[in-house]
Amino acid sequence: MRGIKCPKSLYLNKHKRRLGIESDAYSAQAMAIFDQGTNVGELATQLFPGGVDCTLESYYDFQKAVEQTQQEIENGATVIYEAAFQFEGVLAAVDILVKDEDGWKAYEVKSSTSVSDTYRMDGTLQYYVITKSGIDLKDFSITYINNQYSRNGAIDVHQLFVSESIIADINTRIVGLPNQINLFKKILLQDAIPEKEIGVHCNSPYGCDFAGHCWKNIPNYSVFNISGLHETKKFELYNTGAITFDQIPKDFNLSDNKWMQVDCELENKIVIDKASIQDFLSELKYPLYYLDFETIGPAVPIFDNTRPYRQYVFQYSLHTQNTKGGEVIHKEYLAETDGTDPRINFCKQLIQECGTSGDVLVYNIGFERGKLDDLCTVFPEYAKDLKCIINRLKDLATPFQKKWYYTPEMRGKYSIKNVLPALVPHLSYSDLEIQEGGTASNVFAQMASGNFDGDIETARKNLIDYCKLDTLAMVEILAVLYKL
Ligand code: SF4
Repeated sequence: MRGIKCPKSLYLNKHKRRLGIESDAYSAQAMAIFDQGTNVGELATQLFPGGVDCTLESYYDFQKAVEQTQQEIENGATVIYEAAFQFEGVLAAVDILVKDEDGWKAYEVKSSTSVSDTYRMDGTLQYYVITKSGIDLKDFSITYINNQYSRNGAIDVHQLFVSESIIADINTRIVGLPNQINLFKKILLQDAIPEKEIGVHCNSPYGCDFAGHCWKNIPNYSVFNISGLHETKKFELYNTGAITFDQIPKDFNLSDNKWMQVDCELENKIVIDKASIQDFLSELKYPLYYLDFETIGPAVPIFDNTRPYRQYVFQYSLHTQNTKGGEVIHKEYLAETDGTDPRINFCKQLIQECGTSGDVLVYNIGFERGKLDDLCTVFPEYAKDLKCIINRLKDLATPFQKKWYYTPEMRGKYSIKNVLPALVPHLSYSDLEIQEGGTASNVFAQMASGNFDGDIETARKNLIDYCKLDTLAMVEILAVLYKL
């Protein structure tokens, strides 16, 4: 799969692995995704319980796993997890191998919610190696998450997972596979690193761990950071010879918004449309509520009435202000992790603390409105009061999204993480233990599912500090807009 993405990546991974990302350099978010994959894989074994496990003890211990798989088959095993096979130097391990009355069937487990082209190709290679190793595979399926499953009590693995046979697809794809394998083997035997320019393949279908090596001549802020520009268009621009903004050809076809990002950067220029900002501010009704939610959306639902990957709330921060520039009072909600549904007390407390009049200011209205709409559906008893809050929502992102206020520091973006340093440089996320929403979600999900191995009190304080800064940032950003 690496070779299909990029032959250079295949070669580097074999011969120059030290040029790739170090495992401890993966973000907390990436590590949580790996953990999630493991969790899903373990759960899927319950579809075929009582199997023998041939998982590699170490990443390099292929031979042992292949021998153990062979031994288990000879011993009459009918369910094997991480069954490993090798054919002419190509290794494949399949998550679950099952023998029933029809014969052997393979199931490759994925924590996604559909069968991608990558999975089909990956499955084709696995099928090829397994069958060439002498196993007469009757079927090969991708087992993935059913995002329509709604938890009700203990996890029902037969509802949580769906298995889709890709055998027909394999039969088509397998035709060119031996040639492809031979080509990759030749590449791996080369003395020199294969030539390959950077391109859209570097991020598709996933980011390459050798980007730090191949992209080392691209500065941190370059034509690849033009906000909203399609990946292929970025390379079109790069192929004109432009890397930095000053190298962009004046006749290159970019929208006004994108030229604005470029020009502001080159001329160190700030754009302020005071009339539009004035209109926005004059519409605000006090008392003003600054509100921000944190959510989780684990692959395996933790609570009843939640679906895989469907984001739901567990925390909010609320700053309130009765008059323009007046005293600011902070309130917060962080769900307990005692097994109770975090959303019920969330609704009760939010309804009580948001009052019935005044605007509720959020940053990126679609997110908070969407979560409130979901709560109305799941908890109709609170729908009337929640709809009252929905009707009072206003979006503080609007002046930045519409570029009524733009500074070069925003780097073409309008997220609060980009706007805050530009407008309120003394307020920063960098001193916090938790600095972004993905980490907050992971910490809470681990605590709620009993897998958190840090100090719970400290983690709860870190969550509160993080969410509080999001709404305090809104208070300060609004104050800057008023000063203008
Ligand atoms: S960064 Fe891009 S060019 Fe370099 S190895 Fe990875 S995919 Fe290939």
